Amino acid sequence: LKRCLTFAAAVLLAAAQVEASLAENLPATPIPGYRPAAASDEGGLWMLTEKQEHAIAVSPSRITDPQLNAYVKGVICKLSREQCQTLRLYIVDTPQFNAFAMPNGAIVVYSGLLLRLDNEAELAFVLGHEITHYTHKHTLARFERATRMSNVLAFFALVTMGLGVGGLAGVTGNALAANLLAYSRDQEREADATGFDLAVAAGYDPQQAGRTWRFVSDEHKANPRRIDIAAFLSTHPQDTERMASLDARAAQVAPSRTTWFANDADYRDAMHPFLARWLEGEINRGEPEESVVLLSRLVANQPASGVLRYYLGVAYRKRGGAGDLDAARTAYGQAIACADAPSAAWRDQGLLAMRSGDKSEARVDFEKYLSAAPAADDKAMIQYYLAQLSGN
Ligand SMILES: [Zn+2]
Repeated sequence: LKRCLTFAAAVLLAAAQVEASLAENLPATPIPGYRPAAASDEGGLWMLTEKQEHAIAVSPSRITDPQLNAYVKGVICKLSREQCQTLRLYIVDTPQFNAFAMPNGAIVVYSGLLLRLDNEAELAFVLGHEITHYTHKHTLARFERATRMSNVLAFFALVTMGLGVGGLAGVTGNALAANLLAYSRDQEREADATGFDLAVAAGYDPQQAGRTWRFVSDEHKANPRRIDIAAFLSTHPQDTERMASLDARAAQVAPSRTTWFANDADYRDAMHPFLARWLEGEINRGEPEESVVLLSRLVANQPASGVLRYYLGVAYRKRGGAGDLDAARTAYGQAIACADAPSAAWRDQGLLAMRSGDKSEARVDFEKYLSAAPAADDKAMIQYYLAQLSGN
């Protein structure tokens, strides 16, 4: 019995030592304004990253609007407090759902992500996740692991290609480098858990954390061209796992206070000036099945938005399945009934009316369009249609 205990104690001691050495190897959270030594792995990683950060900073796709930047940066600061001045934010006009942190503290947020969120709390959980990738030096850990495993120069060559001079396209352009730098599943779990705690500590409604992942997966499921979805889900069980674990955490934490906030109205006000532009980008992405799902959800949340209703109509028209043209016409009509209806809603409603042979309705719509948008680029074309419709 004694031997057995001693053996058990030795095992426990060994395990404790392993754990302690693992803990020692964990990088400390960088202090505000932190910079690694130039002649270190981390210094090298930063040099490469700074090149990429510069490319994004001067990219014509960057959205520099001071109000929008101040709003999103404000959320970063609520979460990161003392890191607020260290972290740099770049908002990029691109319709993909994405945000990422660079190992040197640059946070990049795509407009396609901002478009899809319903409130500030959802944004806070995403940003908390990304801030954690930075503060926990997750890329450095992957970088060091890769340099241990393979030739350092080859790795640098890959990173240079991946992060390279091509600007934004380069970020995801090189799958091999992206794979080498991809976070491990444990790092993703850690970013979810710590990011969740940061947002909850700032008072954001924990029940908003899991929603983001659910609606992105709903969009993907609607797209028949994403034939790889089953394969994708089997190699990314973390998406399902992540929703479940965020929901479980939320259920645990939610009863601890009654004053959680999501700041729906603030969020919508901040995004409103960009909606039409971002929705143009979303439509031009050429995935109308996904756009219909996205816009149906946004319209359900903001039924008085003529801009959203108009683009839902456009998405239906682009999808062009059974009944979609009727659905588009209905959506245009509902857009027109809203105070902020884009003038294009009249034009597009007129075009569908003309296509169905409803000449008098088409005429009325085109005339309203031209009086609402007297300087429209397509004025001549619409006048031509009007002349044709009157001639018959
Ligand atoms: Zn992540």
